[in-house]
Amino acid sequence: MIAFSVVSTFATNKGSVAIRDTVSPAKRNELVSKLRSISGLTKLSFDADGFLRLGADSSERGSHGARELLKNAVSGENIVVIEDASSRADVAFCRVVMGRWTKANSALSAFVVLIDFSDFHQLTGDQQARAAFDVGWGFLHELDHVVADSQDAETEDSLGECEAHINEMRHELGLPLRSNYFFTALSMQTDPNFGTRLVRLAFEQRDPHTDRTRRFWLIWDSTVVGGLIASKQTAAVRATPLTRK
Ligand SMILES: [Zn+2]
Repeated sequence: MIAFSVVSTFATNKGSVAIRDTVSPAKRNELVSKLRSISGLTKLSFDADGFLRLGADSSERGSHGARELLKNAVSGENIVVIEDASSRADVAFCRVVMGRWTKANSALSAFVVLIDFSDFHQLTGDQQARAAFDVGWGFLHELDHVVADSQDAETEDSLGECEAHINEMRHELGLPLRSNYFFTALSMQTDPNFGTRLVRLAFEQRDPHTDRTRRFWLIWDSTVVGGLIASKQTAAVRATPLTRK
C-alpha cells in the first residue's frame, strides 16, 4: 500500500489520472510521447498540476481501443496516480497497487501505477517486439486493470484478459501480438559466472505474404530489471515458476 495526500486536488473536475511531481520532465515526456504514438492523440499531455489531458480527439491514426481506455480512465471513478519506481527491484517495468488516502475516509478508490522507467531502457531483442512493448504499452496494461478490472494470466499457457485487451490495440497498429504473459529463461545465453539471467518474451505476427507466423523476441537481464521474486502481483510481466529461483 502506498499513502498519498492529494485527495483535495481530485475533488476538482480535472480528471482521474495524474502524475506525481517527483516524476522528472524527461520521464514524463517519454511517457507522453509513447502514449501519443499509440493512441494518435497528438495533444495528449500532463498539465501544470500533473493531470493527464487528452486534448481533442480528431485522430484517425493510432489505436481506437487505446483512446477509449484513456478516456475511460480520465473520466472514471477510480483515481490513478503515476509514480516513478525507477531501478526498484520489486518493480519489473510496471505495477499497479492499491493506494490509501492519508486524509481519512475518501470514498474514492485510488490506485498507484508504479513505472520503472529504467527497465524499459534495458530491453533488447527484435525491433518489432520492442515497438509492441514500451513504457506506453506498460502503462496502458496497468490502466486496463484499473478501468476494466481485468485479470492477468494464472497459468503458463494463457495470456490473460488484460493482455488480450492490449493485443487488440497492437493489432490495430499492425504490431506483433504478445503470445505469453510469463517470460521465460533464455538459458543458452545465461552465464552464472557473470551474474546475469537473460529472459525473453515472445511476440507473433502473421506475415500476409508468406502466410506464416513470424516470432519476435524481447530480451532482458532479469537480475537488473527485477520481477523474479514477486510471485503474486499485478504486474506487466511475471516469471514462470521455472525462471523464478
Ligand atoms: Zn497485469
